[in-house]
Amino acid sequence: MGRVVSYNEDVPRCTFCGKTEHQVRKLVTGQGAAICDECIELCASIISDERIKDVEVNALTLPKPMQINDYLDRYVIGQQTAKRALSVAVYNHYKRVNMELREAASQVAPAGGEDTASDPLRDVQVAKSNILLLGPTGVGKTYLAQTLAKVMNVPFVITDATTLTEAGYVGDDVETVLQRLLQAADGDVSKAEHGIVYIDEIDKIARKSGENTSITRDVSGEGVQQALLKILEGTIASVPAEGSRKHREQETIQINTRGILFICGGAFPDLNGIIKERLTKQAAIGFGADLRDKYNNDKEILKKVTTEDLRAFGMIPEFLGRLPIVFTLQGMSEEMLVEILKEPKNAILKQYQKLLALDEVKLEFNDDALHAIAKKALKKDTGARALRAIIEEFMLDIMYEIPKDDNIGEVIITKEYIEGTGGPVIMLRGQEVPRLQ
Ligand code: ADP
Repeated sequence: MGRVVSYNEDVPRCTFCGKTEHQVRKLVTGQGAAICDECIELCASIISDERIKDVEVNALTLPKPMQINDYLDRYVIGQQTAKRALSVAVYNHYKRVNMELREAASQVAPAGGEDTASDPLRDVQVAKSNILLLGPTGVGKTYLAQTLAKVMNVPFVITDATTLTEAGYVGDDVETVLQRLLQAADGDVSKAEHGIVYIDEIDKIARKSGENTSITRDVSGEGVQQALLKILEGTIASVPAEGSRKHREQETIQINTRGILFICGGAFPDLNGIIKERLTKQAAIGFGADLRDKYNNDKEILKKVTTEDLRAFGMIPEFLGRLPIVFTLQGMSEEMLVEILKEPKNAILKQYQKLLALDEVKLEFNDDALHAIAKKALKKDTGARALRAIIEEFMLDIMYEIPKDDNIGEVIITKEYIEGTGGPVIMLRGQEVPRLQ
């Protein structure tokens, strides 16, 4: 290009640079126009640069681990270690996804790019790392995954491992989860390919081995683990197109799962026992009994989990290999439950306060009332899940009564009201009655 070319109307030329077919290696002709191999390369590199720019814009909008953590802090109480580690894991995941997109985009460009050729890390592939969350019911495993999807602004689905089956069995097969993710992404395949899937009750698909392994071995759990292996690692899955009436029966959509982050969660009952046993065995003989006592009283024992323990629990090694990031969430304390009631951005108490504010009524909770609610919730042993049901029960009467009387200006929920030994304090508008504490 840039060379002076003599024009001879009879010779086919590149419409873009004007070279004749003899001056170039290949001239592709179309209707009323032609393009030479050099111009094709130039166009490819322009397109590729634009793709790289798009990816770079995405990379710029990728929140940093600290920003992710700050966002999680606004919604999720406690679980500091898990929140920090998750922020880093999610950041790395999307950084890798962006990097792979960038590499794919630059492959369209003509060979060259000396700067990348001299990069000693050029051929290093960053492995896909999915996440396993351990911890009792109601401590925020699902909520963390959901809040992460919100901060990353990616589609999100929750599925339950117990409803998954190996393909060919009755129930949802693994591809159905991807189909739901595609729905959550409004049918946008590239969005779905960067989504987050939370698989709950992952402990329920452990291989069960009873006294007699060969008879009691539960193949279905293991089969589901096997079925999940590929999509966890990254594969091109064929997902049935939505709404078979609109589409032809066999129509499928290809989804690459490499950019999808899978977060698996489970309570793993009995894992404590497995960990205790291992730790006790590891210690010197003779101290066994003392150690067993020590571990029996260790509330944080789940944090000492290793891959070996998870294998003993019944997770197959290949499956664990695809979930290299493992965190344990802490169980709920009374203090944490009180905080959950009042602190998060969309705390339950704030929601009720907002509802009553619409009737111009102020709603207050005494501190000891909040502790009474937390104590009740602890007894149910379902973590923070119990809170809403408990509050709804006693707020029902209040929400029923208040709109009847326009004079009510404020309601104070007391410990006595929660414990069923008294009522709430009701204050009329303009009344200056000292509050009960
Ligand atoms: P899990 O998945 O661990 O069984 P969830 O995440 O489903 O528990 O928790 C149930 C509900 O309890 C959540 O929707 C959320 O409202 C509340 N919750 C649980 N843990 C927390 C937490 N650490 N901080 C704030 N809210 C929480």
